[in-house]
Amino acid sequence: MTIALKRTTPLRSIPAGGSARLVDRANHADDSVISIGGVPVGGRRFTVIAGPCAVESTAQVEATAEAVRFYGGHLLRGGGFKPRSSPYTFQGHGLEGLRLLRAASHRTGLPVVSEVLESSEIPHMAPLVDAFQVGARNMQNVPLLRALGRQARPVLLKRGQSATVEELLLAAEFILAGGNSGVILCERGIRTFEPSTRNTLDLNAVAVLKRDTHLPVIVDPSHGTGRSELVLPLARAAVAVGADGIIVEVHHRPSEALSDGRQSLSPDGFGKLMAGIAPFVAAAGRELA
Ligand code: PEP
Ligand code: MN
Repeated sequence: MTIALKRTTPLRSIPAGGSARLVDRANHADDSVISIGGVPVGGRRFTVIAGPCAVESTAQVEATAEAVRFYGGHLLRGGGFKPRSSPYTFQGHGLEGLRLLRAASHRTGLPVVSEVLESSEIPHMAPLVDAFQVGARNMQNVPLLRALGRQARPVLLKRGQSATVEELLLAAEFILAGGNSGVILCERGIRTFEPSTRNTLDLNAVAVLKRDTHLPVIVDPSHGTGRSELVLPLARAAVAVGADGIIVEVHHRPSEALSDGRQSLSPDGFGKLMAGIAPFVAAAGRELA
């Protein structure tokens, strides 16, 4: 019996000569700049994405979004679909949460980024988000990566907590090969033997990625450390190592957060973060405004 082999997804043609991958800087010398709802990520701008871990209520998302806008954040984050480690903790308000996020986006003018957990949610989420986030737990969910390659919204792809840099690049390659060139990579810490922080932020990976790929690279010092008091120093380190931006968690009342309160900045803390990175951003020859 012979089995006819059929390609399930149309792949964009692989570049001729040299490296065979779309992610490689060898095939694309200039840094890519990806627009999220008109906000550029990459290039001269150092982009700050901020907002709650999860959308919890109208009051929470509105107060937090207002603080993000007031202190100069560029994009709003917030989860409707949450990939929690335990099935017994808050799982997010789903599309209802994303409607609240979209309303906050309208009020503040900040485009939004939110996590997608499964491909069937893409068409429902698309009108409500400006970019899809793929979380650490889903970095190698190949059907999801393929589905995101077939649609036009940019993708913020977070590194899996045990994924190598090479595996992150190959995950991005799935999206690019499907026809979507709008991929932003995110270092969010990896699991190591060190328990004093939630994860170990791998700044080596940022330096490696900035050399080896043209895609923008951002850093998540919130999940990278798990401790709000460590977000500023690691955000400064992200600027220094050449990252194109950061994604941080902000909550109007961190002690009441339904998820990740320990690593969430208060509005005041977010203001201090923005002021605290500004001289570093200028020293790196980049712009915050
Ligand atoms: C998040 O951004 O809230 C999140 C769940 O992040 P990660 O996938 O990096 O754990
Ligand atoms: Mn979180």
